[in-house]
Amino acid sequence: MKIMINGAKGRMGQAVASAAAEMGLTVTAAVDVGDDIAAALARSEAVVDFSSHTATRSLLELAVAQRKPVVLGTTGHSAEEKKYLLALAGEIPCVWAGNFSVGVNLVFALTRRASAILGSDYDAEVLEMHHRFKKDAPSGTASRLLEIILEERKLDAKALRHGREGITGERKPTEVGIHAIRGGDVVGDHTVIFAALGERVELTHKASDRGIFARGALRAAQWVVTQKPGVYDMQDVLGLK
Ligand code: NAD
Repeated sequence: MKIMINGAKGRMGQAVASAAAEMGLTVTAAVDVGDDIAAALARSEAVVDFSSHTATRSLLELAVAQRKPVVLGTTGHSAEEKKYLLALAGEIPCVWAGNFSVGVNLVFALTRRASAILGSDYDAEVLEMHHRFKKDAPSGTASRLLEIILEERKLDAKALRHGREGITGERKPTEVGIHAIRGGDVVGDHTVIFAALGERVELTHKASDRGIFARGALRAAQWVVTQKPGVYDMQDVLGLK
């Protein structure tokens, strides 16, 4: 399979190139800022994108025009951007995932189950830690964990508390906290806490090598080329739904 990597000079772009070599897949184009994406796309069967949220719109427009499947790993889109981009991505086969690791996708499934079983007596808070170079917060993975908790508790985004400061008052049962820690070279840690009076459940995932995201994204690329147009996630690729 012929793959184009967008954001090829970045940390993830390089990890995808190494994983493609290990998996026997051909990288026909390694594209970064300033390169001719349309020409690179024309000689590829699918795109794997780990670049910038500002690049997603033009990439999807080109992919729709050329009918090419896309695996979108970039994070940091606003809710408004996401709404428009989802409609565009739905015109082609597209896997869009904030995290391509198998372990994290299991934690997504466990978070849904834990939220449903434990209910609102258990205060839910999400913690994430990433390397000092990360440009967006909270991470795409933390955002997905929050979406799952909000869905299960029938709450909307107004329930989110991004960090806390000052005289915040007692915690309301309808709050869902999110805390983003930055430092060093941490590839990606996520913990979901469900805390009640007398006990606490924590679900933690720690990534130590970007290769897990790269291999997952390439597995998604192999899968997406056989799919009908639509927006899929890693739970679809792994058959976890
Ligand atoms: P990075 O800053 O190391 O690399 C980004 C690369 O994209 C850079 O080389 C940059 O020059 C390039 N780029 C920026 N704008 C571009 C454009 N318009 N066209 C082409 N290339 C462009 O970042 P990174 O750590 O590799 O992460 C990239 C993205 O992937 C981030 O949004 C990050 O959060 C996300 N990410 C997702 C997952 C996942 O599993 N979904 C895992 C890790 C990182």
